[in-house]
Amino acid sequence: MTPTAKHDTGARAGRPRTHADDVPETPAMWSQDLDAAPEHHPEFEELVRRMLELVGEDPARDGLVKTPQRVANSLLWLTRGYDVDAAQIVGDAVFEETHSSMVMVRDIELYSLCEHHMLPFFGRAHVAYIPDGRIVGLSKLPRIVDAFARRLQVQERLTEQVAQAIEDVLAPRGVGVVVEAYHLCMMMRGVQKQNSQTVTSAVRGLFRSDPRTREEFLALAQGRAPSAR
Ligand SMILES: [Zn+2]
Repeated sequence: MTPTAKHDTGARAGRPRTHADDVPETPAMWSQDLDAAPEHHPEFEELVRRMLELVGEDPARDGLVKTPQRVANSLLWLTRGYDVDAAQIVGDAVFEETHSSMVMVRDIELYSLCEHHMLPFFGRAHVAYIPDGRIVGLSKLPRIVDAFARRLQVQERLTEQVAQAIEDVLAPRGVGVVVEAYHLCMMMRGVQKQNSQTVTSAVRGLFRSDPRTREEFLALAQGRAPSAR
């Protein structure tokens, strides 16, 4: 049931970025039909029914009858990252390889829930590392991001956890992670302007100690060509 994450490795490079580019397209993982085979979680559903009452609704009215079950299934699905760890995801997809230049996967779609309001934040992650004799199958990087995104999170910790997971699994010469996200808890409540993005980064190893590596990484993460040296 694991959705295939899409990595866009630069299809947008040929034209100027617009606001529309900053809002990710609806990914397959989001359209998965949660209501197709719903499970029952009686205790959870009872709590949702009570929440509906507390916001002034009538849980018995037609449109809301199945809502507690849907909410329970949906929230459990959206927090399923608690059940996985990075080593398990990577499995045997680690390969001996002498390649020693930066490897980057850009524009990994990301959907998470802020732990303060349990409202979504969403955007993109850019993940890079410099191998030290070992590389990982590229499709594993979006899955690592997904594992940490599908939890109650703060963006800063999510960014650090992804970097740390790659460090733990690969022991590379360096790791860099940038996350750009929109937070509905700010946007819907008018705390911030609609289009302001929160950007966080985490760097380890050469990405921290070597300014040229850091500059190359940030340029690639922003979709710029690294400056020639
Ligand atoms: Zn929040």
